[in-house]
Amino acid sequence: MLTPDYYNKFTCIADKCPITCCKEWKIAVDADTNRRWKKLLPPDTVPECRKNLSAYTTKKDGQRVIGLDAMHRCPFLDEAKLCRLVSTYGDSVLSETCTTFPREYHTFHDHKEGMLMPCCPAVIDLWRYTLLDFPQVSEPDALFLIRTSIMNLIQDTNISIEEALLESFYILSELAKNVPITIAKVTEYFSPASLAELRAAIHDVELPAADTWMERNELLQDLSVNYIEEGLYAPYLNPLITLAEQFTVPDDERLIDFNKQLHTYDILFRNYVANEIFSDLLMPEDTIDDMLLHLEWIALEYASIRQSLFLLCSAEGANHLSYETVRDYIVILSRMTGYEDADIREYLENSFASPIWDWGYFALVVGK
Ligand code: SF4
Repeated sequence: MLTPDYYNKFTCIADKCPITCCKEWKIAVDADTNRRWKKLLPPDTVPECRKNLSAYTTKKDGQRVIGLDAMHRCPFLDEAKLCRLVSTYGDSVLSETCTTFPREYHTFHDHKEGMLMPCCPAVIDLWRYTLLDFPQVSEPDALFLIRTSIMNLIQDTNISIEEALLESFYILSELAKNVPITIAKVTEYFSPASLAELRAAIHDVELPAADTWMERNELLQDLSVNYIEEGLYAPYLNPLITLAEQFTVPDDERLIDFNKQLHTYDILFRNYVANEIFSDLLMPEDTIDDMLLHLEWIALEYASIRQSLFLLCSAEGANHLSYETVRDYIVILSRMTGYEDADIREYLENSFASPIWDWGYFALVVGK
């Protein structure tokens, strides 16, 4: 299995976790686990005693999940933020979702890949200081070559993450118009000469920072609306959305100051975006159009995180963007946007004139 270099370094920090995954989520219970749970008694310490473990599950959106309590927490999470099921029965009692998280696996026709998701603070801690090393597919086809080329752009510290995204989306859009996509075409688009030409052209495009700020502010509020209504992530989202609703477009000085603060976390954000590209840009059976949609979603996630951090560090009294704030909002926004593929497509279809954006709109979201 191909995995990035950080993959084996992960350890769950359990009771030390600042944003446990055992709350405010759909925690899926697979059919095998549910069958086993029908024969197991709940631990004595579970507040509301039911006949067996399966009786704590419910159906949500057609899926069997653990029914959360009034505070949106897993009923098996104890006061010390440890799992009552693991304490009583050991790790083997857990559902596939609980066993796997925050790992994810993709099986392609000739190989399998494993990665960690940014929905866990302990994963973000692994990405803070050095650029990650991602594995290479031994004989990449054109789509895998695109993915590697985009990851290389994201990890190129000579250009900003925004420039890397803008160039990547332009090239992907051009390739999508020029099917069949061959290794030769991909190599040519990502060659140093073509990239230099594209970089210069993008450099000349005027992208008013205030327009990007307003668009991101709208997108952030739109992504949050359902979670606010359900009372989820309230300690994080409520202050954030109040700020989003109150703020007026910032002046250049404030934007420059924020960019400087954000740059302190440049390596972390490059690792975050590169990991998103590795894990989500190309899924098994994907076409170039699917890759375009995935790149839009990755840009939207990144833009929402940036906007959240801008609002928080521009709030009255806040003058410093702490690592903990950066980490926690990457985790929360990643959980909020961790949609299934079909749901991403539906969101993009319902929210925009066309699910596949033109480069101008992508640039408005990403900014410079
Ligand atoms: S979010 Fe990560 S560190 Fe926290 S409890 Fe879950 S797996 Fe462990």
